[in-house]
Amino acid sequence: MRARFAPSPTGYLHVGSARTALFNWLAVRNAGGELVLRSDDTDRERGSEEYYRDVIDGLRWLGLDWDEGIEVGGPHGSYRQSERLTRYGEVAEELRKAGSAYLCFCTPDELSARRDEARAAGRPPGYDGRCRTIEPTAASERRDSGEAAVLRLAIPRPGETVFEDIVRGEVAFDHANVEDFVLMRSNGSPTYHLASTIDDVDFAITHVIRGEDLLSSTPKHILIALAMGAEPPQYAHLSLLMGPDGKKLSKRHGDTALHAYRAGGFLPEAFVNYVALLGWNFGDDESVFTRDEMVARFDLSDVQKNPAIFDNEKLEWMNGVYIRDLAFDDFLARTEPLLEADLGRPLEDAERDAYREIAPLIQERMRLLTEAPEQARFLLVDEVSYDPASWEKVMTKPDSRRAVEAATTRLEAVEEWATDPIEGTLREMLAELQLNARKGLQPLRVAATGSSVSPPLFESLAALGREASLKRLRGVLERL
Ligand code: GLU
Repeated sequence: MRARFAPSPTGYLHVGSARTALFNWLAVRNAGGELVLRSDDTDRERGSEEYYRDVIDGLRWLGLDWDEGIEVGGPHGSYRQSERLTRYGEVAEELRKAGSAYLCFCTPDELSARRDEARAAGRPPGYDGRCRTIEPTAASERRDSGEAAVLRLAIPRPGETVFEDIVRGEVAFDHANVEDFVLMRSNGSPTYHLASTIDDVDFAITHVIRGEDLLSSTPKHILIALAMGAEPPQYAHLSLLMGPDGKKLSKRHGDTALHAYRAGGFLPEAFVNYVALLGWNFGDDESVFTRDEMVARFDLSDVQKNPAIFDNEKLEWMNGVYIRDLAFDDFLARTEPLLEADLGRPLEDAERDAYREIAPLIQERMRLLTEAPEQARFLLVDEVSYDPASWEKVMTKPDSRRAVEAATTRLEAVEEWATDPIEGTLREMLAELQLNARKGLQPLRVAATGSSVSPPLFESLAALGREASLKRLRGVLERL
């Protein structure tokens, strides 16, 4: 099995494309085959180096490796279409000479006038084949003398292209609905159909796994491959991703660029696990499984053809599962850089120790890695800034001042500054003041951390240290 992932660098790697890449990867790894990465970068105007890098970085972040192609090389020379233009020109010329393709001199204005006429008369608006009957030698003379021409594939008519799609089953296209489409533009650049098919043939691709949006291109690609004398690959068209509302996945549903998930605190392992479930399932009702398990069980023919729902909520839930599952060192390695980025400087040793004290509690509670700096920031700054909503909700309550005052006095007397003694002292305080935990402890939490959402209070105070804790409590008393 040789499959390929063939992104066009005309945008950031979309989550839908990431899923296509993943299904290619899973199918290939399951079969012990090879994955080729090429870049469909013939569109100079819309393509950019930034998008090209984004695709590669995204795949690497997901841990999807490839055996041949961009950056890793291989026996077929360049895997960037922009560097294979000569080859496309050669094939185009061969197809023309063999009579499988013909030159067309219709101008854009003529084409659009005839299209309008056809529509008005209720005929199909595709190209009407006018230039197909021009005698080939005459046609090439016209082109050689400078007349603008495109090259079109001469679709066998009448005819039909039928293929067995691995996901969708048998798919048939009547050639009455497939126009003699363009292979080469008049400026000598190949269309996507031509370049993509030549690459698939040249790179000996056996399986084309891609989005369903390209299904209607497939008869064209099969016909080009046949005209080249090649055996067309097998196709698997993956259903498109929908948002939870059943509409095509778009910005409306959240981020669609993969890099936003990376920046947003998702683990690539969780992302891969979640995305693998979009149109495929593990068999039993399990939803969390390792990459090896996924590879071992993946089978393209189990992929469903109905649309898959991409639900950010579920993805976040799964991310939380994976975060809790990280070995502690790994958790630190992934979150400490986020803390440093948030601070804009490296962590000092004492800060690192304080964070490590509290980190297990943070790890237990979060769904996104980016919550780590939010939760730990109070440990790393000299003065907390109070979240206005938390202050309003908690500190304006009648008992708050009393609680902070009593806690301050009692905590000053704690001998060993550690979680248990702190907890004991504060529970005594609650009993004496006859306050419940919410009324008596929430104000301390806001005082110490700046927010009513933080790691557990006793541990937070212990990690923060005696001096800083008392200073914050006293500071709040002044403010109150
Ligand atoms: N380059 C095409 C795209 O990004 C996909 C090509 C293909 O898979 O055939 O939409």
